[in-house]
Amino acid sequence: MAKAQETVLEIDLNALTHNFEYLKSKLKENTKFLAVVKAFAYGSDAEKIALHLQNLDVDYFAVAYTSEGVALRDAGITKPILVLHPQPVNFKTIIDRCLEPSLYNARVLRSFISCAEKEKQSNYPVHIKFNTGLNRLGFWENDVDYISSQLKSNHSIKAASIFSHLAASEDLNEKEFTQTQISSFKNSAKELIDALGYSAMLHLCNTSGILNYPEAHFDMVRSGIALYGFGNSAKENKNLKPIASLKSVVSQIHLIEKGETVGYNRAYKSEGFKKIATIPIGHADGIGRHFGNGKGFVFINKEKANIIGNVCMDMIMVDITHIECHEGDEVIIFDNQFTAENLAESANTISYELITSISRRVKRKIIK
Ligand SMILES: *Cc1c(COP(=O)(O)O)cnc(C)c1O
Repeated sequence: MAKAQETVLEIDLNALTHNFEYLKSKLKENTKFLAVVKAFAYGSDAEKIALHLQNLDVDYFAVAYTSEGVALRDAGITKPILVLHPQPVNFKTIIDRCLEPSLYNARVLRSFISCAEKEKQSNYPVHIKFNTGLNRLGFWENDVDYISSQLKSNHSIKAASIFSHLAASEDLNEKEFTQTQISSFKNSAKELIDALGYSAMLHLCNTSGILNYPEAHFDMVRSGIALYGFGNSAKENKNLKPIASLKSVVSQIHLIEKGETVGYNRAYKSEGFKKIATIPIGHADGIGRHFGNGKGFVFINKEKANIIGNVCMDMIMVDITHIECHEGDEVIIFDNQFTAENLAESANTISYELITSISRRVKRKIIK
């Protein structure tokens, strides 16, 4: 593959296919697959990722905000799109663009019903969200009567699914808590279906739920992070392929003497002769200041180079005293060997935050 000549995020669609097929191999034949493509498909490229998954015949998509769903419709996505966290101000747009809202409390349920009535809808698909312990979004189990009375009082909307979200599916020390979430979900869903008098799809599992709780797959599963190549465990990481590689180049090399400093606020002070490389990627590209001052690193000619001093807006400086390299050489910030998860850990964060932070000004390059 051609070496990077500027900062670029390469996205490998073959790796995406691999991850999708791997996850599918964990499901029963008729379990549906919802691909979570919120946050620009976890910082990659939502349109290209969603189009590829649509070609692989994924069943559903989910985004967080309405605007993300609109962007997918504009890009030619025709599969159903669940909007996980909509606001009433978006409801007309949701209906206009055939997006499907998560209804998570009385405020949004009432508001969506009145919008659907005004727009003369019948049986418009909605998704009823229960809170089973994450305490983030969702109705409580004792709201079932209220939800069913609202849904039965008019025919403008219909529950296409009932769902909830696990709080700690990746943490096997929390197995007991997860099991209480699973049974609370089962109870709420059964009560609601009984009260409504019609069936709806049930779904609960995110990536780690899929991998750790096969008994809780229900009718559909929702995967985000594993599609992008991370399984939240060393064991599962081996089965997945990171789809994104963040690459850059050495812009300039400086040789500095003992006592000289590097970067803003003179945060790095040299204790001896050093060779320093400047790389065109900074906090405005998604490499946050928490990676500065020796925490984060990049790879040049397979050798690790630590970030020294403060991360600037548009660049970082790294210590290459021990590395044979030249201006113009390729730099790997992360790829499928030097992973985003490893880099994230160096600054006490997680792969999710690092990959979703890569800003829009970093050029995306699709690789097939
Ligand atoms: C983001 C999100 C997911 C995806 O979680 P992963 O751990 O990335 O698989 C699934 N469901 C909901 C409700 C989410 O917000």
